[in-house]
Parts: sequence; C-alpha cells; structure tokens
Amino acid sequence: MPRMKNDDRDAPDAPRPDAPPPTGDMSAEEFRRHGHALIDWISDYFTNIEARPVLAQVKPRELIESLPTAAPAAGEPMDDILADVDKLIAPALTHWNHPSFFAYFATSTSAPGIFGELLSAAFDVKSLLWRTAPAAAELEEVALSWLRQMLGLPDEFAGVIYDTASVSSLHAIAAAREHLALDIREQGLSGRPDLPLLRVYASEQAHSSIDKAVIALGLGQRSLRKIPADADFRMDADALARAVEEDKRDGLLPFCVVATVGTTSTTSIDPVAAIADVCERRKLWLHVDAAYAGSAGIVPELRPLVLDACERADSLTLNPHKWLFTPFDLSVLYCRRIEVLHRAFSLVPEYLRTPAAETEGVRNGADYGVQLGRRFRSLKLWMILRYFGHDGLAARIREHCRLARLFASWVEADPRWELLAPVPLSVVCFRAVPPLNAAGETGDARAAGEPDDARAARLDALNERLMHAANSTGALFISHTRLHGKFTLRLAVGNIRTTEEHVRRAWQLLNDTLHTTL
Ligand SMILES: *Cc1c(COP(=O)(O)O)cnc(C)c1O
Repeated sequence: MPRMKNDDRDAPDAPRPDAPPPTGDMSAEEFRRHGHALIDWISDYFTNIEARPVLAQVKPRELIESLPTAAPAAGEPMDDILADVDKLIAPALTHWNHPSFFAYFATSTSAPGIFGELLSAAFDVKSLLWRTAPAAAELEEVALSWLRQMLGLPDEFAGVIYDTASVSSLHAIAAAREHLALDIREQGLSGRPDLPLLRVYASEQAHSSIDKAVIALGLGQRSLRKIPADADFRMDADALARAVEEDKRDGLLPFCVVATVGTTSTTSIDPVAAIADVCERRKLWLHVDAAYAGSAGIVPELRPLVLDACERADSLTLNPHKWLFTPFDLSVLYCRRIEVLHRAFSLVPEYLRTPAAETEGVRNGADYGVQLGRRFRSLKLWMILRYFGHDGLAARIREHCRLARLFASWVEADPRWELLAPVPLSVVCFRAVPPLNAAGETGDARAAGEPDDARAARLDALNERLMHAANSTGALFISHTRLHGKFTLRLAVGNIRTTEEHVRRAWQLLNDTLHTTL
C-alpha cells in the first residue's frame, strides 16, 4: 500500500480494537488471547507437518518480494502479523522438524525445549554477572553437571554453554593458546618476531569450524595442519605423531590437537586414546569436537565407542541442539582447566564490579568468553533433561541408530546400491550403482566393458540427479558429501519424530526415483 500523505493522517480510520496501544506493550488480555492461539497454531503445525514439503519450494527473493519494503508507520494488529506467518513465512521454511528431514545432521526441537525458549524470552535476562541472572548462572552449572554425569565424564570437567560448536571450539583453542603462557592476551600475535608459527592439528575430515577458529584467533590457516585419515576416515595417529615431531624439528610450536568424534561427512570417530598419547607426550592441548556424536555418549552401550579416552581431553564440545532435541542454539564446552578459559577472557570494567563475597562459589558468565550478555539457554536443557530423563533420551538416540543400521542393511542387500562408509551411529553414506544397461537388471557394467573413469563420472552424475529428483518431491530431504572422490548420498536419522515408517518410505522413494532417473 502506498504511504499516506501527512494530511491524510489527520483523519485516520477509527483504530481497530486489537491495534497496539499508543504506548507500552500489548495488554495482558491480548497477550493471553494471542498466546493461546499461537500455541494452538504450533500444535497444529507439528500435527500436520507431513503435509508440507520438507525442503522449501520457494525461489530466492520470493519472500522478500512478497513483503513491504519499509516498516509500517502505525502498528498492526497481531492477528494480521500471525496470519502472514501462516501464509508467507511458513511456506518459505525448510522444515527441520519434518520426520523425513534426513539431510546434514537431522536435528529437531521438542515440546519441553520450546517451553524453555518461550520462558527464556519472557524472562529476557542477560547472564553476564551472577547478580544479573542468578538462576541462569546456577542452572547452567546444574544442567551441565547432570549432563556430564550422564556422559560419564570426570568431575573436573566444568561446562560452559555457548551458541554453537564453532564458538565452543574457538574458545577451546583460545584457552589452549592462553595455556602456552606467551602473553598473547596482552601482546597479541602480530609484530612479534619472538614467536614461531603456532600449530594446531586436526584430521582432514575435521569440521570447517576449526579452520574458522584459527582464522578468528589470528593464528591464520597456515597454522592448522591437516592430518591424513585412514580408509575409514579416522585420523591417523601415527601420522599425527610424525607431523608434530617434524614441526618441532623445524622450529614450529605445536600446541593443540583437535580430535573429532563423529565427523561431519561420515560420523567416523578419531582414535582419541592414541591421539591423547601423542598429546601427553608432547604436552599439547587435546580438544575433542563431538558436536554431533557426543550426545550418543549418554547411551550406555554406545559410550565406549564415542567417548573412549575422552576423559583424557583438556576440553570437549557437544551440541545438545544436534542430537538432544534442544531447540537451536545450545552448544556445551567441557573444560578440564576452566581457570585457563577464565584467564583468557575475564575482563571486568569498573561498572560491572561486584563485591567479591557475592561471587564466591558461583560464576559470572561474561568471564568465560567473548560475549558479555548471554541468553538463559540452560533453562531449556534442564527442562529437556527432566522431561525425558536419561533413559528416555538414550532410548531415542538408540532407536535412531537402529533405524540407520536398518536402512544400511537394505542398501547392503541390494546390488543396485552400495555403502560408502561404516555406520557407527545414525548416518548412512551410500550411493546407487545400477548396471549400465538399465533394462537388464542383472547386467554388469564392468562386463559390458565400461572404463573405470566413465563409470565414475556416470555414477556421480546419476547420484546427484537422483538426490535432486528425490528432494524435489518434497517428501524427504537428504544431502550429500564426497568420499574417496565419489558423490555420496547421506541419510541422517536424528529427528525426534522419525519412525521406522519414515525410513521405509525414504528407501521406497529412493528406489522409485532411481527407476525413473536412469
Ligand atoms: C555440526 C558440527 C559442527 C558445527 O556446529 P555448529 O554448532 O553449527 O557450529 C562442528 N563440528 C562438527 C563435528 C559438527 O558435526
């Protein structure tokens, strides 16, 4: 609608009874009415989510073009705003809570988590000092202590909540750097001829957040040495030992190793015990990036697989927002030397000083990271841990792993498909390998004399087409990676609503799509 001229404003229509008041917030009565309606809307959203396409079927800029170019001068009724959420916003979403979302790492929220977020928005505290949000400071300690015990990690591991694993790992590497006692906090890294190149090590399968951390910390990407992985995508600990030795010989300063428990491509698990041996021998900080797989550590029979030797780490991160049904965002960093993190980041201006007695035995959140104010994230985690309980959460993760193994067994049993990586947890890496002669179901491409490179190119193109065709049906969403040069489909189970029926339908759809894509 074109903007009204000033003189038109002198004679406005009578304000609608549900328009915002001239000053102050929405009335309590209106808040209650819209709040109830909104919870009803969310409840219907979850009930009917499978009627929506998983992957948003909008074009780039479609939403932008459907909305006004400037904010309204006069406030609008909440009903109109919520109607637009329904009509314009929801269709422009990719529905992460759809039970057939199998892409990347399938993650999902949960009812207690949503309630926690709602309350956190209502309280709107900024947890910087203990006194600015005592409940946030103390509940963080309680929830992270509960989670630490569920994971079977040692008591010395103190936890801090950040937004994402990228930020958790950045703080871990910052702590490792502080631990060097090279006065980098004060002197920085630039213009210092007294410092050699500092080295961080991670496997070639490590997450890109480690690259970003060394960029942000001023170490530079050349300080990150990528260690080769074995055939099953796990860091080669002997190659790590050799690299550290070589760097030392060359006058570099190794200081930190990042082991990945559950890599992003295949969920492979680095040999933490062997890596910890190298770290202990060479006095290197061991950080474990268990963003996805760490949550599986609460399942008794999976714990030895995922958290073996992790008690020897200096720090470890995991994301409850990935596989513990916690609404984004909430990442946890456990640190054996929390005082080093404090030393790296504590900086208290006069206007934030409080009597020492007030912070005895409690924490000021701002002292443990880059941020001053922090959201009350622990509330949702505490509510989730209480609502589902340790056993309930473990049962859900266990079921996801069962569903992934089931899917993998169908892939293995069918000669038109193959697995491309082991399936230790809930992600399956696979691809279609149909015969060259599509009509002859039993035909063998190799027997037909197809050269290896022609076959490789054919299968890459076919699997990419297959993925796009399956995703464009809206019935599921899978993603891909590249393993040993091969275009690889990834099916990740992790959504709280995913059942065996959804996994079966995914398999059926992929087979139907393969038939039509050939
Ligand atoms: C997902 C993931 C990350 C990044 O997580 P964010 O919380 O989005 O920063 C880091 N490392 C690994 C291994 C991951 O799987």
